[in-house]
Amino acid sequence: MSADTLDFDPNALREKYRLERDRRLRPDAIAQYVEPKGDFSRYIDDPYVEPGFSRAPLTDTVDVVVIGGGFGGLMAAARLREAGVRDIRIIEKGGDFGGTWYWNRYPGAQCDVEAYVYLPLLEETGFVPKEKYSYAAEIRAHARRIGETFDLYKDACFQTEISALTWLDDEHRWLVTTQRDDRIKARYVVMSNGPLNRPKLPGIPGIARFKGHSFHTSRWDYAYTGGDSSGGMDKLADKRVAVIGTGATAVQCVPYLGRDAKHLYVFQRTPSSVDVRGNRPTDPDWVETLAPGWQKQRMDNFNILVSGGQQEVDLVSDGWTDIIRSLISKAAFRSGPTLSPDEMARQFELADFNKMNQVRARVDALVDDPKTAEALKPWYRQFCKRPTFNDDYLPTFNRPNVTLVDTDGRGVDRVTETGLVFDGVEYPVDCIIFATGFEVGTAYTRRAGFEVHGRDGLTLSEKWSDGFKTLHGFYSHGFPNCFHMGVTQNALTVNFPHMLDEQARHIVAVIAHADQRQAQTIEPTAEAETRWVETIRASAVQNLQFRIDCTPGYYNGEGAASARVGLFDGQYGPGPVAFYDLVRRWRSDGAMEGLRFS
Ligand code: NDP
Repeated sequence: MSADTLDFDPNALREKYRLERDRRLRPDAIAQYVEPKGDFSRYIDDPYVEPGFSRAPLTDTVDVVVIGGGFGGLMAAARLREAGVRDIRIIEKGGDFGGTWYWNRYPGAQCDVEAYVYLPLLEETGFVPKEKYSYAAEIRAHARRIGETFDLYKDACFQTEISALTWLDDEHRWLVTTQRDDRIKARYVVMSNGPLNRPKLPGIPGIARFKGHSFHTSRWDYAYTGGDSSGGMDKLADKRVAVIGTGATAVQCVPYLGRDAKHLYVFQRTPSSVDVRGNRPTDPDWVETLAPGWQKQRMDNFNILVSGGQQEVDLVSDGWTDIIRSLISKAAFRSGPTLSPDEMARQFELADFNKMNQVRARVDALVDDPKTAEALKPWYRQFCKRPTFNDDYLPTFNRPNVTLVDTDGRGVDRVTETGLVFDGVEYPVDCIIFATGFEVGTAYTRRAGFEVHGRDGLTLSEKWSDGFKTLHGFYSHGFPNCFHMGVTQNALTVNFPHMLDEQARHIVAVIAHADQRQAQTIEPTAEAETRWVETIRASAVQNLQFRIDCTPGYYNGEGAASARVGLFDGQYGPGPVAFYDLVRRWRSDGAMEGLRFS
């Protein structure tokens, strides 16, 4: 792509992006948000269970305690079960399996990643999703299906929160205590707490003063709205509703609220990039063609393509593979092997401008009012924020009962007893729905909600006070027999359960290896850990400038100054394909170098 054949001016776009970023930068970054505690703790109460559950405390000893009953915990437990481990206990805060899909039941909740690669263990459970993109209810049911198939319900402690993990050095066991007075001992713990598990509220002055109804999208109050996750919220027919936030969650629930509320105000600080969804029912003829091993093959194909690699066919062929193809593969292809890194970066940027121009043109095509359309256009590079895919969101703003209140990057000015104020105008509402996302970038133990006490009294908060310190993201020196899943120091991928499955297989293989050697403890050496931390820091630098230049959001710690603590902090620069390959080779050579079995 040469600059003279472009139909846009890259310098003007670069400058526009910079201006839009600068006006959103705030010195308080992550600290702008309100934690769901104290007066705000009701925002994380579980609306999906009957109150008053109680049970007798547990005081037994098991092989493995898995923390979290989302797909990570389920996959760890399922793979442990396959490997013959019997004594497992899964501790889960919610009332059932599902993790993020247990909590996120808002109307329209749907997974943006194709169901045939996203839903784990499809072949093992004999299930084929109904549509290319599953809605939340199907995903939640699948989580339950995994629990049933692998006989995990008998091992699950729901509605239970960990209060602390303490390593008992003389017993080579973890003591797991909970808020239900359990004192469970375990040889191993697997922590799969989830990266987006703790809702956050916007730091808008006066937020506590509001006298109407309010809730966070991850605790949808159907008792108030009526209906269910497929809509039909009849109790909103006479209600004025405000949604704060326009991220991936709002993009999905706004069309339903627009349909059902008397009036809907969408308060926007930064617009999302909203691309084509194109959902469709599963074709039974296609299902007939699936041969054993198809899911793994499809997952690998998708993962390689969205990591910038080449494949002969694009099996999933959707918005994700299209974006990455336009951003990475085309640029790399055009650039050829001889171009300098700077020229390659320029090609990426041009491909990005091109893609975002398409996204902005789509807004013009779908939104009638030019002023509203202009306000809904995202001015940043595609991966500064999570891309979204939806065919109903943008047309919702053509409805007469829906108002976009664009706050020009500033956010809502204040909340009153009866409504919200922006730019001197008060918008009276009956209900405020916070679609303001989840805590990212704060201390790991704060988000987990408990402390981990390792050997010699060392806490994980102290150990990780200036960032993760692990070997391959899985284990940390001073914390024997404790495994981490999720985005600690490994390689994030678009298809999160793919990453979790690789992690579960890895953990099970390491435990099996320890059993073979009759080892009591597994722990990385301090030297191996230091080397991995250095590897991660060196490889992360390539992406740092990109994040600094981005508009604020949870991908970059809410702004340039804290870009190191965003979601991508501590990710292996060469990407997930290279990372899985690296740990697979590390496992298979038998030495498992850097890990001490004793
Ligand atoms: P996000 O963090 O992505 O969005 C939060 C929104 O709240 C942003 O639009 C933000 O604006 C806005 N906001 C925050 N403070 C204020 C304020 N003071 N005034 C006005 N607006 C404010 O959270 P989501 O819940 O939307 O999504 C979280 C993640 O969950 C996604 O990125 C995705 O990874 C996952 N998800 C996945 C889905 C899927 O299909 N698989 C569907 C839904 C979510 P600003 O951008 O300016 O900060």
